[in-house]
Amino acid sequence: MKKLFLLLLAALPFQAHSWGFFGHKKINYHAVFLLPPEMLILYKPNISFIEEHAVDPDKRRYMIPAEGPRHYIDIDRYGQYPYPDLPRSWNAAAEKFTADTLHAHGIVPWWIQTMLQRLTTAFKQKNQAAILKYSAELGHYIADAHVPLHASSNHNGQKTGQKGIHGFWESRIPELLADKEWDFIIGKAQYLPNPGQFIWQRILESAAAADTVLKLEKHLSQQIHADQRYAFEDRNGQIIRQYSSYYTRLYDQKLNGMVERRMRQSIFAIASFWYTAWINAGQPDLKNLSNREFSPEELKEFEALNTAWRGRESDEH
Ligand SMILES: [Zn+2]
Repeated sequence: MKKLFLLLLAALPFQAHSWGFFGHKKINYHAVFLLPPEMLILYKPNISFIEEHAVDPDKRRYMIPAEGPRHYIDIDRYGQYPYPDLPRSWNAAAEKFTADTLHAHGIVPWWIQTMLQRLTTAFKQKNQAAILKYSAELGHYIADAHVPLHASSNHNGQKTGQKGIHGFWESRIPELLADKEWDFIIGKAQYLPNPGQFIWQRILESAAAADTVLKLEKHLSQQIHADQRYAFEDRNGQIIRQYSSYYTRLYDQKLNGMVERRMRQSIFAIASFWYTAWINAGQPDLKNLSNREFSPEELKEFEALNTAWRGRESDEH
């Protein structure tokens, strides 16, 4: 029986996406409520767009190879915490390590700043379609930067025999607990005088937590037998192997609220980046915007993202 179980474990697909689609949508959704009334006027009626398109950058990974490195940084490739050898500015870092090396190890802290600039420009141009698109996508990258395993080269526990831990932390735990037990009432967005410094700080927190994320699960897995760690569940008519609810709760308790905390910090950071872009653009009146509809090209791109994603999904199963 045990042998059969282990055989099944090896054969069934394991689902893993950054923050899971569930987490990313929830994070973007809740960020809207931290905005001031002058911004809510635009974001509230478009909240389902902000929520739905929170996952576009993950879908784009299946279409464009350059997309991958925008979601993480293997910061441990650059020495020891707090990584003094890695310059925080792109130019200085590229000069020291080459742009190719930076891309190879992931560029999320710099990409967030590029997206912030794009959003700021969109506000200056009063371009509604661009504001919504960049807001949704910027939210994705900021949320990724808060995930400890997005700041570690051991991103799926592949170096320590913990394959699957990526999705365990960022998908399985929130899917089980966020709606029922977590609180997403968070004050107000704040203006960030130095967004670059802010996001590097969050990356360093993620990097520092990655060790804890890995060690605690390793320790727990040595105490709990495999047939209590995993469960088979029906998902849309497909049997998939999952971490059991029992084991998920145990791990969450060991993490002492870390996943909920990082989710809340993501929400605050996203709203604050949106707010900062709006302020830096001169607080344009969001009641009177141009480009209220997406262009045919933009609509085509959304469709292509979905097609790429669906194709990939059926490939995997
Ligand atoms: Zn991602």
